[in-house]
Amino acid sequence: MVPRPPVVTLMGHVDHGKTSLLDTIRNTYVVGKEKGGITQHIGAYRVILKRGTITFLDTPGHQAFTAMRARGANASDIVILVIAANEGVKPQTIEAIDHARAANVPIVVAINKIDLPDADIEGVKKDLQRLDLTPEEWGGKTIVVGVSAKTKQGIDELLEMLLLEAEMLELKVDPSRLARGVVIEGMISPHRGIVTTVLVQTGTLKLGDIVVVDCYYGKIKAIIDDQGRGIKEAGPAMPVEILGLSGLPQAGDPFRVVPDEKKAKQICWLRQERKRKERLTPKQKITLESFSQQVEQKKLKELKLIVKADVQGSLEALVESLNKLSIDKIKVNIIHQTTGGINESDIILAAVSNAVVIGFHIRASLKAEELARQEGVEIKLYDVIYEAIADVKASLEGLLEPIVKEIVTGKAEVRQLFKVSKIGTVAGCFVHKGKINRNDLAHLIRNDVVIYEGKIKSLKRFKEDVREVEQGFECGIGLQNYDDIKVGDFIETYKKKEVA
Ligand code: GDP
Repeated sequence: MVPRPPVVTLMGHVDHGKTSLLDTIRNTYVVGKEKGGITQHIGAYRVILKRGTITFLDTPGHQAFTAMRARGANASDIVILVIAANEGVKPQTIEAIDHARAANVPIVVAINKIDLPDADIEGVKKDLQRLDLTPEEWGGKTIVVGVSAKTKQGIDELLEMLLLEAEMLELKVDPSRLARGVVIEGMISPHRGIVTTVLVQTGTLKLGDIVVVDCYYGKIKAIIDDQGRGIKEAGPAMPVEILGLSGLPQAGDPFRVVPDEKKAKQICWLRQERKRKERLTPKQKITLESFSQQVEQKKLKELKLIVKADVQGSLEALVESLNKLSIDKIKVNIIHQTTGGINESDIILAAVSNAVVIGFHIRASLKAEELARQEGVEIKLYDVIYEAIADVKASLEGLLEPIVKEIVTGKAEVRQLFKVSKIGTVAGCFVHKGKINRNDLAHLIRNDVVIYEGKIKSLKRFKEDVREVEQGFECGIGLQNYDDIKVGDFIETYKKKEVA
């Protein structure tokens, strides 16, 4: 076993400088050092320093990071959390921290834009302390470096620190074995066919090797490094492009080299069979109802939750009560908590972590809802804190019997408003999903937050009163005792159903 270079991903809030830092590091340490500076973007690059080498993944952000994990591969050893010194910690900074923690990947903090006059490094450090990332110089364990992607200040130190962190991680692999690794990106080039960028994680990848990815395999016809040079072999932590695969894999797919083509065919056949079977049984991750059975079957020790609420106060109250529910053998582990609607990144995180998403006074975006359906992630929505707590408690104790369930029957988008004297506001709507029934109950949802619940007062198609309106049609909806409807709101209708 020999040490291998660390693989690093940058994460942080939008515009805090992830791309700029990646570019500055590349331009300073990689490009132009050797033969005339070929800039070859292959999805990752290596920085080779006297003291060691670092591999940077070129797709920054926690969504890409967790999407890769969702396909089976944890490619990163260290996350650089980029925080702009003039803005401090923002919502996506917290998302990034939780995604890194869920993956058990250590965080090094780069406070960027320290060249700006309004940079407040101390302020950022205080934020970090609150988030349990106390800087080393304040007695904590987190490496924090001030940098500027613009003036290059602090970049040397950041790289030093990454190497130091890597040393502590003792990343060791066997370079003599058949290679294994992960796909960083794949594309079809009009001239070269299927081009796949891979990161070798262990072993050495050689020309002529038979590689299997997903249900595809092929003999490697060319290996190209991050400087655009054709090479004969690639060792651990090297990102390279390979040619020769028979199909297009996805980012995050693991790959492996097998001894011969026969073995490759066998593996691909087995995987196709497995996929066929999986298609027949819908994916289902953990649910509150099934949790106690899964505890026995899969020896689970904790119930993982993602908690989202409309405002900070409710979020804190809910999280505090949920945390108190941990019982002897089983813990409640809240892996992510923020205010705001349920988004796609919440669902991806829930899917890889096998967590249930709990929403209080909020809803999921249409895309998040769809993704949750595909991934089999359970979203539980509540309008009363006590009910959320009671459900989780019952789930932990294996006693969960849903009594009254809200069954969503339709969802319509408000596109136009009509003020009708004596009647009030009528919302001109388009029905996106299900059907709107005159007798159903209704939620009014604005920016994924529930702001009204009650009854439908009127339902019209053109001038006619109607009993129901189907998906794909327009209608006018009036809500009982509520007129403050806005364009862009959603009206969600539901029934209450007793479940034994
Ligand atoms: P990303 O969304 O995190 O990838 O952020 P970008 O790298 O796109 O940077 C956002 C903006 O901040 C751009 O306009 C950059 O020019 C600027 N920026 C990035 N790093 C620095 C820095 O160190 N100093 C200053 N002054 N501006 C920076």
